Amino acid sequence: MAKTYTGGCHCQKVRFEVAMELEGAVMCNCSMCSKRNWKLVFVPADQFTLHSGAHALTEYRFNTGHIAHLFCSTCGVASFGRGVGRDGKEVISVNVCCLDDVDHESIPITRYDGASL
Ligand SMILES: [Zn+2]
Repeated sequence: MAKTYTGGCHCQKVRFEVAMELEGAVMCNCSMCSKRNWKLVFVPADQFTLHSGAHALTEYRFNTGHIAHLFCSTCGVASFGRGVGRDGKEVISVNVCCLDDVDHESIPITRYDGASL
């Protein structure tokens, strides 16, 4: 059963809502994720609503440029990103560490070998 979570950046400029089943998160070892050390879940874009902060976000792209790594230009926290899945649909990567009232230490982690791609 999908639940609705709220979350955002540290300074509260960026606020969003996401409907999903939070059963686990991914940690990736690519050059970006290993520096960020974030924990991500991937959801279809229609399950994600950005309530505020669209203008506070700075976009960073590298490598193939397929993923927009977004971070708050004020506090620097990267709470989510945007990408396109293999089926061509927009996918949102949510940093579970930025969800309200979620004990992210208790979420099962799957390691993803993004460095080998
Ligand atoms: Zn912020």
